Amino acid sequence: MLALRLYGAGDIRLEEMPIPSIGPGELLLKTEAAALCGTDIRMWQNGMKGVDEAHPLVLGHEFAGTVVQTGEGVPIYREGMRLAMQPNIGCGLCDRCVRGDFHLCDDYRAFGINMDGAFAEYVRIPADAVTRGNLMLLPEGVSPAEAAVTEPLSCAYNGFLKCLCQPGDLALVVGAGPIGFCHAMLLNMGGAKVLVNDLSRERLADIKAHLPYVDTYWGEDLPGAVQRFTRGRGLDIAITACPVPSVQAAMLPLMNYGGRINFFGGIPAAKQPVALDTNLIHYRELIVTGSTRSSVAQFRKTLEFVSQGLLDVETMITHRYPLRDILTAFENAKAAKGIKHVVEFR
Ligand SMILES: [Zn+2]
Ligand SMILES: [Zn+2]
Repeated sequence: MLALRLYGAGDIRLEEMPIPSIGPGELLLKTEAAALCGTDIRMWQNGMKGVDEAHPLVLGHEFAGTVVQTGEGVPIYREGMRLAMQPNIGCGLCDRCVRGDFHLCDDYRAFGINMDGAFAEYVRIPADAVTRGNLMLLPEGVSPAEAAVTEPLSCAYNGFLKCLCQPGDLALVVGAGPIGFCHAMLLNMGGAKVLVNDLSRERLADIKAHLPYVDTYWGEDLPGAVQRFTRGRGLDIAITACPVPSVQAAMLPLMNYGGRINFFGGIPAAKQPVALDTNLIHYRELIVTGSTRSSVAQFRKTLEFVSQGLLDVETMITHRYPLRDILTAFENAKAAKGIKHVVEFR
């Protein structure tokens, strides 16, 4: 089969490799769609611990596919079924896993991160992913590409829940990439009006064109823009979907009393610690939160939003490619062209 493998920093190769063989309790999935993510680009640029010439890794963690083979004893899933996949597999034993937070497990494994992923014609699904709920039937009317981009949406949903969104809230999202797009979409669904800020005018125009209650701001005076947007009241919600320390610090003075902040984008370790004016948190009674990845339950919930037609994730997909053109897809995603780049297999 054809697969895209990471060999180290700056070294990805589209090449032939054997179709994985499966054991008892495992599934073989024929990939139908797999989406590119900022994480893929970072892994390509920086490499990954444990990945080298002798230990290449198939990238791709946002995907959906069709069952083509089932190992002995596999429950529920049968050949021909179309499945969506939540890529974070927990140990199943620790307190966080028991709570349902596989994505916070110390021993978590994820497709395309530390085990072979879905930029390949076939993916082996290990037995623990089969029995812990990571797989789910693709709902009627949801395409594999839509299911693939539901993964980042579920991560945004994790952050969204921490913002305690109420109808009429005024929210700021910094970063108009795929994640910013997901956040703006969820906030709109939750009844909030959203101001989106980014360095790319093109991306801001894209978001504004596709979402109903979105204003955009491009320029140097974000505080002034927030003043106008909130009529001097300050923000109820701020979400940072970018890896910039100064952006995190800049959120606090923009907040209304009782405002909620979600630091969604992580900051490179070399740029820590970030100085925050904690008196603003104290006197304005702000809630400052963080979030990373998503739980299986959150993934299933967002897939429901998509199948119910509450969220139109199709609008995020600006580029589609066959697998043979995936290197172009990586170049385009790195250059921040469009929003979401999806590889489709036919
Ligand atoms: Zn991702
Ligand atoms: Zn665990």
